[in-house]
Amino acid sequence: MDHDRIYKGRMSRRDFIWLMGVASAGAVLPGCATDPVTGKKTLVGLSEEQEVSLDKQQSPHQFSSDYGASQDDRLNRYVQDVGAGIWSRSHRPSMPYSARALNANYVNAYTFPGGSMAATRGILLELQNEDELAALMGHEIGHVNARHAAERAGKSILAQGGLVLASVAVAGKQQYQPIVQLAGQLGASAMLAKYSRDNEREADALGMDYMVKSGYNPDGMVSLMGMLQNKSKSKPGLLETMFASHPMSDERYQTAVQRAGKQYAGERGRTLRRERYLDNTAALRQLRPAVTAMQQGESLLAKDQPAQAETHFGQALGLAPGDYAANVLMAKAKLAQKKEREAETYLSQARAIYPSEGQALQLSGVAKLALGQADAALQFFGAYDQRLPGNPNTTFLKGVAYEHMQDRKRAAEHYYRYAQQAGSGREAQYAVSRLKEWGYVKK
Ligand SMILES: [Zn+2]
Repeated sequence: MDHDRIYKGRMSRRDFIWLMGVASAGAVLPGCATDPVTGKKTLVGLSEEQEVSLDKQQSPHQFSSDYGASQDDRLNRYVQDVGAGIWSRSHRPSMPYSARALNANYVNAYTFPGGSMAATRGILLELQNEDELAALMGHEIGHVNARHAAERAGKSILAQGGLVLASVAVAGKQQYQPIVQLAGQLGASAMLAKYSRDNEREADALGMDYMVKSGYNPDGMVSLMGMLQNKSKSKPGLLETMFASHPMSDERYQTAVQRAGKQYAGERGRTLRRERYLDNTAALRQLRPAVTAMQQGESLLAKDQPAQAETHFGQALGLAPGDYAANVLMAKAKLAQKKEREAETYLSQARAIYPSEGQALQLSGVAKLALGQADAALQFFGAYDQRLPGNPNTTFLKGVAYEHMQDRKRAAEHYYRYAQQAGSGREAQYAVSRLKEWGYVKK
């Protein structure tokens, strides 16, 4: 395949589909691997090397979409240390694990297949002791050990070809309205597998085993499940994302109760590590009122009520003016109301508060695009790329900037790269529709 054909000549639709297929197959090749938990040979979608490399590629962007690791070093170290106590006793102790607290306010915890994991400050504020934190991390470590993401990836390869075809077939003329949301919530779920209920059962069982082996009280798992159950009834919106990837059920809670009562009855007398949890989360707990205000604002923002959301973000900023997430969220509310100049003020504060974090840069670029300053936008997208290279969404946004500058050739290059990486979704359809309209891809 001569790459110049993409720009100079006319790629046939078949060429295009073939190239996209080659691109998506590059990172994901099905093969046989040994399940370290059962010792059985299973067909999985990713080798261990691929699990680690996908993790490295994708986790920084997901962490950034969750407003980056907390700037509270004590908290991050604590989450890392609790994690290390558990993964060292797992079936795959040599994976390159790491753990951090994230600045996101919603209630969630997740892991990438190589073991990069995180808990949001939203969920850390709900936990009562270190045993619950150990249970939470044990569960995520369970997913890594049973290789659930790899298994899911194997299944999705089979669907992939069809998805690419469909996106090419339905691509028509579309506008790029979703850009603000796009920059805010990066490729969130690409590798955050939607686990099955069987996956959840297995991760719960492994997690409880690992945490008990690490010296914790099994009741930590029981009360964690109880908390999640209660929250899913009282504040379902806050846990939506978590339950989308980790399905919650009454059965999971009941199973934890039974296991703690039988299998692990002997370890139930262990003292719950509450003091240590409170000490290490003291600074975070001072932020609780600000986090609550942000949660309220975010739920309004999600309902497309940015003016009402602004009130809550204003409250949060009053309580915690130096909070990175609060500044970024206020900027999002402003952007959603087309108040780009005001948004820029909050974004420049956010960049000063947390210079190494990417989301404020990406959004600053979007604000510049909205102001019709495409070259300034490109500088921000370039700055994001330097800090967090390899985000397909940045490629798409750069394409939009070049399109604004009427640099069709560069716009097409970027849309093409994006379509290769992203495969499906609204942005990919837009990119493909542009490539067709400009004659880079035959209709
Ligand atoms: Zn799970």
